Amino acid sequence: MRILLLGGTSDARRLATLLTDAGHDVVSSLAGRTRDPLLPAGRVRIGGFGGVDGLTAYLRDERIDVLVDATHPFAARMTGHAALACAASLVPRMVLRRPGWTASPGDEWHRVASPREAAALIPGLGRRVFLTTGRQTIAAFAELDECWFLARSVEPPSGTLPRHLEVLLDRGPFTVDGERELMAAHRIGVLVTKDSGGADAKLVAARGLGIPVVMVDRPALPPGPVVSTPEEALAALP
Ligand code: NAP
Repeated sequence: MRILLLGGTSDARRLATLLTDAGHDVVSSLAGRTRDPLLPAGRVRIGGFGGVDGLTAYLRDERIDVLVDATHPFAARMTGHAALACAASLVPRMVLRRPGWTASPGDEWHRVASPREAAALIPGLGRRVFLTTGRQTIAAFAELDECWFLARSVEPPSGTLPRHLEVLLDRGPFTVDGERELMAAHRIGVLVTKDSGGADAKLVAARGLGIPVVMVDRPALPPGPVVSTPEEALAALP
């Protein structure tokens, strides 16, 4: 089958390997946000499709049999476009989303719907903040002059930024020991993260240090089949 795999995640790369090994013709699609992306097995295309209409035309022109949406849980725009384009072109679609995180006993987690809501909570929780919500969300914290931020992202942030900000450019995987040392060295009082799921070293480290966590919830998915591992995605292909 010819499969369009919307990627940008480690699960998408694992699935690309499984699908090409199984003999499928896979085109992985990346948004092109990172300068030096980790490339998956099989064919790769980079850049937006041009909205729902562009993706609908792509599905038709490339004679795609199935679309697998393995984008990041917070790439809601792309996921919404894929649902509409597949419905319009009658191409079967499946979402691969790894499960979100759940709190353990003793954790102090505050679930919020957006980075803006996270920003509203922070002054009541701590003044030294570890921000791991991605460079596109840092502007939401720009008005908190009373707080100091350590913001970790793969690419440098831009736009309006908090006055007291240190940027740490880094890409995982991270270890629990490394995260604990980082948070202790910067005397972090509150961790802000998105519920991305997957490796949870920063959450384990925060638990050990007794640091409260502000967790930005995932946007809702459009209706349709969802699997949580690349192996399940392979098994569920039509
Ligand atoms: P988004 O807001 O949902 O998408 C914005 C636009 O970027 C889409 O409308 C589409 O442009 C283009 N796009 C997004 N993903 C694409 C893909 N896989 N292939 C081709 N075009 C794509 O997405 P985002 O939050 O900017 O994320 C972009 C990519 O980075 C995603 O593939 C995602 O898996 C990855 N990523 C995101 C996050 C995050 O926190 N959001 C974290 C890690 C990785 P057109 O309308 O022109 O088609």
